[in-house]
Amino acid sequence: MAQQIESRSPQDPTDVVVSAPAATSGQVRAAVDRARVASREWGTAPAVQRATALHAAADAVAGAATELAALIVREVGKPVGESRGEVARAVAILRYFAQQALDPDGETYPSADGRALLLARHRPRGTVGLITPWNFPIAIPLWKAAPALAFGNAVVLKPAPDASAVAIRLEELVRTVLPDGVLQVVTGSAEAGRALVESVDAVSFTGSASVGRLVAVAAAARGIAAQCEMGGQNPSIVLPDADIEQTAAIIANAAMGYAGQKCTATSRVIVVGDAAPFTQALVAAVEGLASGDPADEATVVGPVITEAARARVLEAAEAAVGSGGRVLTGARSGDGDGWFVQPTLVDRVDAGSPIAQDEVFGPLCALLPATDVEDALRIANGVPYGLVASVFTRDLNTALDLAQRLDVGLARINAPTSGVDFHAPFGGEKDSSYGPREQGKAARDFYTSTRTITIAPAAS
Ligand code: NAD
Repeated sequence: MAQQIESRSPQDPTDVVVSAPAATSGQVRAAVDRARVASREWGTAPAVQRATALHAAADAVAGAATELAALIVREVGKPVGESRGEVARAVAILRYFAQQALDPDGETYPSADGRALLLARHRPRGTVGLITPWNFPIAIPLWKAAPALAFGNAVVLKPAPDASAVAIRLEELVRTVLPDGVLQVVTGSAEAGRALVESVDAVSFTGSASVGRLVAVAAAARGIAAQCEMGGQNPSIVLPDADIEQTAAIIANAAMGYAGQKCTATSRVIVVGDAAPFTQALVAAVEGLASGDPADEATVVGPVITEAARARVLEAAEAAVGSGGRVLTGARSGDGDGWFVQPTLVDRVDAGSPIAQDEVFGPLCALLPATDVEDALRIANGVPYGLVASVFTRDLNTALDLAQRLDVGLARINAPTSGVDFHAPFGGEKDSSYGPREQGKAARDFYTSTRTITIAPAAS
């Protein structure tokens, strides 16, 4: 029998959400071959036809919203409110790119002789491989697939094994409204992912920095376009003039919501000046977050995805304590049989220590003191990642200055690090990203190439 992968519910690991085939290289290649055939008609079809199909896909997802949100809760342990929000966002993404299919598809330039037409037209890349993580099981696949399809590509999606069920259901829903072979899902893990990179015309990846680097190297070796969105070590800088209670509430959510499993989660809080009052407020805000069953409407912090993820969080907290850190709250497993871990805050941490440098991807956050704004900026930028940073202040000049000098793709003033606007460019600097930005109007840069066309009058 073909090898299988299993996706289990993190709040009830005895619950096998789906058991799916681990696609072999040959099966991945066959899916890509089917996509290539489908892409010929899809890529040359009138744009309005693609727009209509994407609106129909949005309707199909919207029609199954309740069921999909429940499946997200069950499969990845995302709190139900956030799961509903993710499905709503997925629908909005489909509609946004349905409209973008009808945007101007190129530019005109003055020609050398002033008579000829000189055009640069966008054209699809062909078949695009999408490799996605488990933490946004419907929004991430769709913020890649929707622009890819809108601009005339076929896609083959390889979801993370822990999010296979949502991807399979998504394929079932949109298959009914899209031409055959235009969107296919292949389940599996690293082998299937590698095979996809080896056979597609372009690859868009979201996941960890270590895997993203492998994908970028393999794509470069084949000479295909690649886009990799990876991890973060995101700081929130709190200046002395920030409102303590409000800022603490925002940061507590950004650090611990969905058990800190967002690439945009806050994992360092850099407090300028006297850190004691803010630290106290943050501990209270974190301890006030409702933790537990993600199906419960009140829950903000559910489980982490696997037993290994829980061990990683607890070990990181222990290592921080081993090198002089102090646990302010958490650092223990949570109640229940699932992979629960208490939201954990650690201070007295050295800015160069692993907890303040590496991505742990769980409900773990380090507090770091800074003497002044320059010191805060130095600490904020002193990591290999550069996805997002927040600054909390009422001082407009400092906010404007930091928004320029933070080495990140997203700078947010008085707003949480977490949160993505699908209609604006998204991506990071340094180890957080490779290749062109995702989302918004920027998406077209990756999912199309251009052809420059000269049309001169025939000789008379
Ligand atoms: P991961 O890197 O373990 O896996 C991502 C995907 O890559 C999965 O589908 C996996 O099966 C596949 N894969 C694994 N090895 C491969 C290989 N050698 N070749 C090709 N594909 C391979 O990440 P994860 O644990 O699923 O997700 C968590 C990570 O994703 C975190 O680092 C998080 O920061 C990141 N993330 C980033 C963003 C962003 O937009 N920047 C968004 C969400 C998550």
